Amino acid sequence: MNARGPRQREQEIEEAAALLAAGKLVAFPTETVYGLGADAQNADAVLSIYETKGRPRFNPLIVHCADLAMAERFARFPPLARRLAEAFWPGPLSIVLPLKPGHGLADIAIAGLDTVALRVPDHPLALALLRAAGRPLAAPSANPSGKLSPTTAEQVRRGFAGKVPVLDGGPCRAGVESTIVAIDGERLIQLRAGALPRAAIEEVIGVGVEQAPQDAGIAAPGMLLSHYAPNAHMRLDAAPQPGEAFLAFGPAAPFEGITRNLSASGDLHEAARNLFSMLHELDATGARTIAVAPVPETGLGEAINDRLRRAAAPR
Ligand code: AMP
Ligand code: MG
Repeated sequence: MNARGPRQREQEIEEAAALLAAGKLVAFPTETVYGLGADAQNADAVLSIYETKGRPRFNPLIVHCADLAMAERFARFPPLARRLAEAFWPGPLSIVLPLKPGHGLADIAIAGLDTVALRVPDHPLALALLRAAGRPLAAPSANPSGKLSPTTAEQVRRGFAGKVPVLDGGPCRAGVESTIVAIDGERLIQLRAGALPRAAIEEVIGVGVEQAPQDAGIAAPGMLLSHYAPNAHMRLDAAPQPGEAFLAFGPAAPFEGITRNLSASGDLHEAARNLFSMLHELDATGARTIAVAPVPETGLGEAINDRLRRAAAPR
């Protein structure tokens, strides 16, 4: 996609918005880096982000919104969050917030958490796209996993061998990712340093910004945990014991206990789509232990196993 005039630009944005509505990916410029965007409410679309990037891990993704009003459809804004949003949006600040019930975001976009990182990007093309799409866009950087974040459309095209449509907005201004903060009552905690300096936040908001401890999950359970951790103990084993709940994959031997199957037909796509909701369901039964069948280490299987292993790691 290459713009020649305002009319072509408009058409390009309409086309990109239509692709996103149809569950396709579109790369777009922001003031930080180029993002690989998908409808954050469409699980299959978000899964294509993982497949296209070859990302071996289901991190929660930043969900981009057109404005504060759109962001408020998905999360609650405590007073401190509202002040941040009003001061720095649009801008390179992602805010981790508690999800509203019935938010409609895909489980896989938020990695099964009860919080979401939201941001309104400060780039005319990104904002025009978000408005035209009328939907939130999950978007990590538009590069294959392990490669540098792209700051030009050409880098995105090369990275994905021309397979992803790219809105060309020229070089990105900031060139580094957004700053991520979480809010804990009156405290502000920086989860990732980025394009908005801590000092700028402190100066405008008048609240000190704390640095998240190395492993935020262990130091401050709940709010800062960036991966979903079930209450039940998890055990990677395709052979469940009596009394355990069982998360199966593929054709499984009959088992008396509470069972969910990520995909009875052994489809990794279906398994990825079901992963977080089934973990939540089994956890909600109050089972002390969940036995989990590992999945093949191919394609999305790598990210699924990574998540299962981390959920099973001792805490
Ligand atoms: P990327 O999409 O590659 O820019 O990475 C997004 C970053 O935001 C990752 O480091 C995530 O761990 C972090 N993040 C996103 N959502 C949350 C959340 N709800 N809680 C904590 N960290 C988050
Ligand atoms: Mg990245």
